[in-house]
Amino acid sequence: MAKHPALAITDLSFSYGKKQVLHDLSLIVEEGQCCILLGPNGAGKSTLFSLITRLYAHKQGDIQLAGFNIQKRPLKALAQLGVVFQQTTLDLDLTVQQNLRYHAALQGISSKKANLGIQEQLERLGMYERRKEVVRQLNGGHRRRVEIARALMHKPSVLLLDEPTVGLDAPSRQAIVDHVHQLVEDGSLAVLWATHLMDEIYASDKVVLIHHGSVKAEGGVTDIIQQAQADNINDAFFKLTQGKS
Ligand code: ADP
Ligand code: MG
Repeated sequence: MAKHPALAITDLSFSYGKKQVLHDLSLIVEEGQCCILLGPNGAGKSTLFSLITRLYAHKQGDIQLAGFNIQKRPLKALAQLGVVFQQTTLDLDLTVQQNLRYHAALQGISSKKANLGIQEQLERLGMYERRKEVVRQLNGGHRRRVEIARALMHKPSVLLLDEPTVGLDAPSRQAIVDHVHQLVEDGSLAVLWATHLMDEIYASDKVVLIHHGSVKAEGGVTDIIQQAQADNINDAFFKLTQGKS
């Protein structure tokens, strides 16, 4: 039997009331692939994430996680998914470890398993030494790493990150970009990373460039540059995201 992609979105359309914001959008993220969802503000990136996480329900199109349709098999599908939303959702007054234990308890993970999982994920993100610190004392980059560790606790096959570096200083941003790419390299995790920042893209990434809710170009960085007949990725982004649609 052929293996399913980690995430497959087919002909997805979505409207807020009468305002259509996604138009027949299709994209595939393969197992072990880092896919950059690149688009300017208002392109529809967060809306797409809201549909993948079932915050909103779609009426047109199809979303599958590891072959499980999110409408027909929601529990199986969502078990595949880890999410880091743009707004931080950590409890600032709890320690790193307490935040993660709380999350594990909500997921029904036993405390023994949780402790092992917390250690494993925090070590991968270089945060284990800081597990007893109150989150409020951490800088933005370290908080983000805790959120990524938390999203990976249940060993999802797909990690969604919605503009995870916004508001961070340059070294913290680079650390997050490098950590996430390392996670992808280490195993079979698939990542969908929403951003409007070109310098977060690695040469090995797949890029899906969206504007006004439609895919304008996709492929490797060089494919995007070619498709836009541009000189570099910044120029390609500019060319493909100017104009109405
Ligand atoms: P991005 O995350 O790429 O910046 P969004 O998905 O947030 O884009 O927004 C896509 C479009 O949908 C924008 O035009 C935005 O104004 C609109 N939009 C987003 N959320 C809502 C909402 N809850 N109600 C109505 N319109 C919305
Ligand atoms: Mg957004």
